[in-house]
Amino acid sequence: MGQAANKSDGARAKHVPQRTCIACRRTDAKRGLIRLVRTPEGRIEVDATGKRNGRGAYLCHNPTCWDAAIKRRALERALRADALTPENQHDLLAYSRELSAAEAHAPATRTADVLPHDVRV
Ligand SMILES: [Zn+2]
Repeated sequence: MGQAANKSDGARAKHVPQRTCIACRRTDAKRGLIRLVRTPEGRIEVDATGKRNGRGAYLCHNPTCWDAAIKRRALERALRADALTPENQHDLLAYSRELSAAEAHAPATRTADVLPHDVRV
């Protein structure tokens, strides 16, 4: 039990868990991404609290990613779920639009030609 406190070591020990957006593979701290879970009924729902039980997948705040994840069935793959119903797809897309609308600090550009990160597929 040494008394010498090593500050740099302490900073390194405080690890922030990184999550990966399943659409663009961007990593971010947990709060920068939105968690989605598969319900026992087989639906895929947004987990706003991040505390729901079950297998989770993450998407960033970019509606383009939600679009891509649904079109490429990335959500079903990540969550080992059956194909999304049209209704479920609609709900998730509606959520992503609300999300982008709520981000008042972000410029409301609807064109996807300027992405904040380099997407390589
Ligand atoms: Zn993303």
